[in-house]
Amino acid sequence: MKRVNKIAIIGGGISGLAAGIWGQKQGFQTVIFDKNSAPGGFCAGWKAGVQQVGFCFRGLIGTKENTALNHLWRETGALGNTLIIQPESFLSVSENDSSITLWQDLERFEREAKKLSTEDAPTISMFCNAIRTVAEYEIPVQKPDELLGPLERLKSGSKEAEKLLQKASEVSMKQFVNEFRNPLLRRLFSSVQPQNGTFALFLFQYAMFVSGNCGLPVGGAAALARRMAEQYQRLGGVLRLNATVEQILTANGVARGIELHSGERYFSHWTVAACDPDVTTHHLIPPHTELDKNFQQRYEDRLHNPIFTGFYCVFRTNQDPGLMLHMQDFEVEPFSIGKTLINRLCLIQSSYDSQLGQNGNAQFVCPIPQAEESYNYWEELSQNEVLYEAETNKIMKKVLEQLQKKFSELDLKPVCCAAPDFFSRRFGAYHGTWSPFTALPGNKYQPMPFMVPGVRRLLLSGQWMHAEGGLHAALIEGRFSIQRICHNERLPFSE
Ligand SMILES: Cc1cc2nc3c(=O)[nH]c(=O)nc-3n(C[C@H](O)[C@H](O)[C@H](O)COP(=O)(O)OP(=O)(O)OC[C@H]3O[C@@H](n4cnc5c(N)ncnc54)[C@H](O)[C@@H]3O)c2cc1C
Repeated sequence: MKRVNKIAIIGGGISGLAAGIWGQKQGFQTVIFDKNSAPGGFCAGWKAGVQQVGFCFRGLIGTKENTALNHLWRETGALGNTLIIQPESFLSVSENDSSITLWQDLERFEREAKKLSTEDAPTISMFCNAIRTVAEYEIPVQKPDELLGPLERLKSGSKEAEKLLQKASEVSMKQFVNEFRNPLLRRLFSSVQPQNGTFALFLFQYAMFVSGNCGLPVGGAAALARRMAEQYQRLGGVLRLNATVEQILTANGVARGIELHSGERYFSHWTVAACDPDVTTHHLIPPHTELDKNFQQRYEDRLHNPIFTGFYCVFRTNQDPGLMLHMQDFEVEPFSIGKTLINRLCLIQSSYDSQLGQNGNAQFVCPIPQAEESYNYWEELSQNEVLYEAETNKIMKKVLEQLQKKFSELDLKPVCCAAPDFFSRRFGAYHGTWSPFTALPGNKYQPMPFMVPGVRRLLLSGQWMHAEGGLHAALIEGRFSIQRICHNERLPFSE
């Protein structure tokens, strides 16, 4: 047994579970505390009546066999014997009766895009070649950057892809869209992600998809989280659900453990805060604790550190949607949600996954992007239950009407909806966002600091600490936290 052996982990999302699994493997005694009744955080979604609302539908990065990241997912038990489905398409966009699709088969996309617009052929070739290069990129997972030796640093990653991603991070999505003349191609690339974000993020995501490294595990995200929680408990970890951490206990500038909402205390040698860093730094540690300037500045400068959130409408059908594309974006009659005017919708369907819907029900999700400003609108509205319900019902009805016009053959039934304030209340998500601050073009990416200067033996973990966010980021960062503790305690980290 290690002398320094107790780790309290706040948050049982993917990052907290990963920290717990590797913590147990290294011989620590870990306890995970999560405020919700099921582990997995965002990844677990939630229940609407009997229906499991399974989000995280874009895909899991790290599904490609024989990669270091896939090995890590397998080590946590997240994938089990689950089948991985590779959807044919990343996104399909239609306008004025014509459509274009980003296929997994890149040659097919290249052919169809060039047929659509010969004048854009050189730009299309350049884009497809960039995707081919980045598709070879192996995400570095070995160690946190600050623990890499010079030789390890040289060996890690793929230099050509890294250079390309670096270059692409200086270009905004809007600038990339402006390279195209054809309106449908412009529409396609305008729909993939917010326009002020960098082109690098989209390049990375589509390249991972093309390379077969971003598949969908059957059973969805909630099942994936459940398998990780089971693995954690098999390794002797203690999972405390319905356990909201109220404060991080400190003495002389050192974290000593946590106190739950119930008043119960748990003392530990280290604390890993794998919940949203805003919760940790602005609510759990004592007020006026010294924070990293770079960290604090991001919360203060909202203009240059944007976040994105969304209003989610969930539907189901017990019909077989047949050969429907995975994710489709199309024009609709304009209507407003909060302060945002909507003239397009995106529909994502899950019929490829026999386990996701109950009794063969396929689930459909309409994620409607909302800018950060709309968070306050929802937060205020949520103070009045009657008005809130009336507004959310109105939006569901409007969205359903639009979907019925587009997919008249589908008998869609409403399941539930979730506004930005919901994500904040349920998961502690900063302003309802599901991903870290977006890097803006030209701003050199600076990782979020994982330490709080005013509190030693406290580590921040989770997707926020990683460049692009997402499930794989949460996994990698959870493991990094344990590597950091081992390094600090001069203990070996056994692979
Ligand atoms: C709708 C949606 C779709 C997504 N789709 C994808 C996708 O397709 N692919 C992908 O890679 N990523 C996707 N993501 C992002 C992905 O879900 C996240 O990157 C990932 O789950 C983050 O994991 P995490 O462990 O860092 O944080 P979280 O999942 O946020 O976990 C934090 C945990 O801390 C707990 N917590 C908070 N405060 C406290 C407290 N005071 N006490 C105790 N516990 C507390 C919360 O309950 C939560 O369980 C999606 C997210 C959303 C919302």
